[in-house]
Amino acid sequence: MSRQRLTVVLSQAQGKNPTRRALEESITAALLMEPGLDVSIVPYLYDLGPEHSGRLFLESIQGDMVVLAWMYPRAAFWLLDRDGIKGHYGANQITPPAEVDEEEEGEPGPPKGIGSVDVPPRWIYCLDLRDHPNYEIYVQEVRRIAAECRQRREAQREAAAQGQPALVQLGRYLRDEEPAKPPVQFTAEQLLQPPARRWYPVIDYSRCTNCMECLDFCLFGVYSVDQLDRIFVENQDNCKRGCPACSRVCPEQAIMFPDYKTPAIAGAPVGNIGGLKIDLSKLFGGDDALAIAAQERDRELVADGRQAVGMTVGIPKRQAHKPKGPKDDLDKLMDALDNLEI
Ligand code: SF4
Ligand code: SF4
Repeated sequence: MSRQRLTVVLSQAQGKNPTRRALEESITAALLMEPGLDVSIVPYLYDLGPEHSGRLFLESIQGDMVVLAWMYPRAAFWLLDRDGIKGHYGANQITPPAEVDEEEEGEPGPPKGIGSVDVPPRWIYCLDLRDHPNYEIYVQEVRRIAAECRQRREAQREAAAQGQPALVQLGRYLRDEEPAKPPVQFTAEQLLQPPARRWYPVIDYSRCTNCMECLDFCLFGVYSVDQLDRIFVENQDNCKRGCPACSRVCPEQAIMFPDYKTPAIAGAPVGNIGGLKIDLSKLFGGDDALAIAAQERDRELVADGRQAVGMTVGIPKRQAHKPKGPKDDLDKLMDALDNLEI
């Protein structure tokens, strides 16, 4: 029987919305009663800067982890990955009410992105607290995940004991590292210090092909490449608040802004937004995407006292001269979704 405990981190909503706080409190109170869980609360994940105790705490967690946050799981997972809090993507089984009984359509093919690097053998599950108002749904899902993690560790240990080559290294890790080093301890006051609000792009490396179009497009020094020549959001806080321009330029829809109003840009599951089968590229602005992105970028350049550059700098060739057709029904639906507040 594994002695390893599952760490559960609840990331609070921004602001003081009483309904959201009530859900957070109900979930926390219920999870604290569950055996085998270590439960902590941190402020809004997206806002945690490198020095914040909440971020340092998350960085110090070694084993499997569940993160409950007020954002899409894809956005939460990849923003943690960018901050060095890495693991394999643990799928959760919570289905938002609007998607129950919807026919599964438009499922994306296998990921073709460059993926993450240096991923340790542990799993990170991200749950979206906007999916359900009922705290019990989350408690049940955390229970299910805890059981899944236990079973996985047992299976890996058994397979490694039988010498299955691919799992020997992981088995060694599980034997050597157990029990995992406990996370760094902080007081609740330290963990919950309110951070300033932040705004920056998050790259989904399961989709990113390292084409560098975002690097060419952004004129504010946000993007760079790492030692492996992989695109990297280096200077997060250089990004301009409220502007999602580069997400429209990315040909793979790999760039997310978790706080943006349009679900596709905020990190909604690809191929399944509100249970509808849709062309994701249209949600990012369709044929107009590059023109919209250039306008958004110009607005920020002018606000900085710089010259607008329009479509003359960093615009990918692929769509720049594409003819514009009349709007079809899907375009109109996309316009409606674009105005959707979530
Ligand atoms: S939104 Fe604008 S400033 Fe921010 S990274 Fe993208 S292009 Fe750069
Ligand atoms: S534009 Fe998109 S696919 Fe290309 S490097 Fe940037 S994030 Fe990756």
